[in-house]
Amino acid sequence: MFNLILFGPPGSGKGTQSEKLIEKYGWKHLSTGDLLRQEMKTETKLGREAKEFIQNGQLVPDSVVIGMIESALEANPNAKGFLFDGFPRTVAQAEALDRLLEQKQTAIHSVLFLHVNQDELIHRLIGRAKTSGRLDDADPEIQRRRQEVYRNETLPVAEYYQRYGKVEHVKGEGAVEDIFQLLCTEIDQKQ
Ligand code: AMP
Repeated sequence: MFNLILFGPPGSGKGTQSEKLIEKYGWKHLSTGDLLRQEMKTETKLGREAKEFIQNGQLVPDSVVIGMIESALEANPNAKGFLFDGFPRTVAQAEALDRLLEQKQTAIHSVLFLHVNQDELIHRLIGRAKTSGRLDDADPEIQRRRQEVYRNETLPVAEYYQRYGKVEHVKGEGAVEDIFQLLCTEIDQKQ
C-alpha cells in the first residue's frame, strides 16, 4: 500500500495533478473539497453546515472532515493506496489521519509539496473562477482569505510531516505535463 498527500496552497494544481496520478497509479483519490461539494450538491445536513464555512473561505471543522475521511477509508478496504488532496489542512487533521492509518497498519509514505508563487496562484484562481462555478473562487476577498487560512493553519502541516522526513518539494509552475513528470519521478523513487 502507498499513501500520498498532495500538498500546496489553493490553486497550486492539486486537483489537476491528482486526476493524472490516480489514472497512472490506481490509487483511491480522497479530496475533502470534492466530498464536501458533493454533500452541498445533494443538500445533506453535513453539506448545509459546510456551505457556510466554504463560502466564507474558512475551514470546515476538523471533526467533520476527519469523519468523512474515516468513512472513506472504511469504504475502501481493498484500495492499493490513497491519494489525499486538500487533506489534512490542520495539524489536528494530520494527527487524526496518522491514527486512522495506524489502525489499518499503514502510514503516510510521502508528502509532495507543490510550490507556486503568489501572483501565479491568484492568476490561476481568477481563471478557474470562470469555469468552476465555485463561489469561493469568484470572490477576490474570499480568495485572499483562503490564502491566509492556508498560511496560518495549513502550512504547519508541512512542518509536521517535515519532522518525519516525509516532505518532497516540487516546482508547481510550468506545463501540467512537466509538473506531472516531476511528481512521478519523486513517487517512483519512494515506491
Ligand atoms: P478545496 O476544493 O480543497 O480548495 O476546498 C474547498 C473548501 O472546502 C475549502 O476552502 C474549505 O472551506 C473546505 N475544505 C476542503 N478540505 C478541507 C479540510 N481538509 N479541512 C477543512 N476544510 C476543508
